[in-house]
Amino acid sequence: MSKHFTSEDWIDYVRELQTPAQAARMKDHLDQCDECQKSFRLWAAVNSAAAKDLDYTPPGDAVRIARSLFEPAKPQSFGGLVAKLIFDSAHQPMTAGVRGSVSICRQLLYQYGQRFIDLRVEGHPTSKEVSLTGQIQQSIGQPESIPVALCGGQGTIQHTETNSRGEFHMTFVPEQDLHIEIDMNEKKIRVRVPEISGPGN
Ligand SMILES: [Zn+2]
Repeated sequence: MSKHFTSEDWIDYVRELQTPAQAARMKDHLDQCDECQKSFRLWAAVNSAAAKDLDYTPPGDAVRIARSLFEPAKPQSFGGLVAKLIFDSAHQPMTAGVRGSVSICRQLLYQYGQRFIDLRVEGHPTSKEVSLTGQIQQSIGQPESIPVALCGGQGTIQHTETNSRGEFHMTFVPEQDLHIEIDMNEKKIRVRVPEISGPGN
């Protein structure tokens, strides 16, 4: 199988910015790669949600709902460089494909400056643990691996780092006020970890 395409490639693909030859190569790959299917579906949904707005600004309602969900009512020490939520599959009826599946999955996209961070959180039907898969969109000059930490009210819970494609993965029991810290050139970018409600909740 040919190598995976990056988020940047898929963004260009859904926006039809590529040469026909490249688009054809990507379509061939898409037909045989589940991983790239997921990425493609995310970006296609984001692209639709953004309508024709090149700034990826979601419709007002989605923004309002996302704010009420993601910004705590009480001020807390979540300051600093916080990535902005720009897409949440929980608010997109068009991603209904993920509903009704056995595991509960929520997919989100965050933006910090020129950088996109996508998160997929999956609950397991038989355990309290959730699985978090993230990808920091690759950009030129990005290091081979980027340290990523999962943090809660009591400090750091676990550490990992991205692979060379900017991906990382963690499994943990959810608690309140979780976020991840992405260590980017000594700046720590914070991304809120979404809650996921499973059948047991
Ligand atoms: Zn692939």
